[in-house]
Amino acid sequence: MYKGRISEIFKSIQGEGPYFGISQVFVRFYGCNLNCAYCDTRQVYFKEMSVEEVKKNIYTYQDYHSISITGGEPLLQVDFLRELLPQFKYDNKLIYLETNGVLYQNLKKIIPWVDIIAMDFKLPSSCGSQDLFIQHRYFLEEALKRETFIKVVITPSTKEEDLVEAFSIVRSISPEIIFVLQPEHPLEEALKERLGYFLDLGKDYLPNIRAIPQMHKILGVR
Ligand code: SF4
Repeated sequence: MYKGRISEIFKSIQGEGPYFGISQVFVRFYGCNLNCAYCDTRQVYFKEMSVEEVKKNIYTYQDYHSISITGGEPLLQVDFLRELLPQFKYDNKLIYLETNGVLYQNLKKIIPWVDIIAMDFKLPSSCGSQDLFIQHRYFLEEALKRETFIKVVITPSTKEEDLVEAFSIVRSISPEIIFVLQPEHPLEEALKERLGYFLDLGKDYLPNIRAIPQMHKILGVR
């Protein structure tokens, strides 16, 4: 029996992507394999919890659309997820996986128990990270076995060539997918202009591209 390293479990409103506004129970997994420059979920605390403890905690909540498995990067704890997620399938709960879209080998191990995948596409110029385009390609090919959308964070340092590379990769695999541009700072004028430019650029590649800010920050909810 594996134990999960869990930072927090709580009920709130999904604030990102095309599902913004729905009610979810969030299970935040501790730890991440990346170190994005814009990360707003630096974690300092976790509790080791059994499958039963996590399940019991989730089931104290009622009336929600789905269970968001989030982080950090939850796929780092794939052995625990393999024990946890089947529990919810038997109870007809929807599983919504939020992931940085890199650990495709781990995704393969749990995809039968996932319903919706919110996949990040990390751009080196935005994250200050290495080039992850190959990993994202493999990840997306696997993720498409389930309902999937993609999210890219746009920052003041986002380079057009990185974004065009992302558009091209995604178009070659799934041209109809929902592709979300998410501004790091939604109210910053300079970023709004950049966002508009990138949105127009993306329409030439992906018809379902859209710009959606982090609504929970605008609404002031968790
Ligand atoms: S992948 Fe997400 S949690 Fe990990 S460092 Fe990047 S923004 Fe933070």
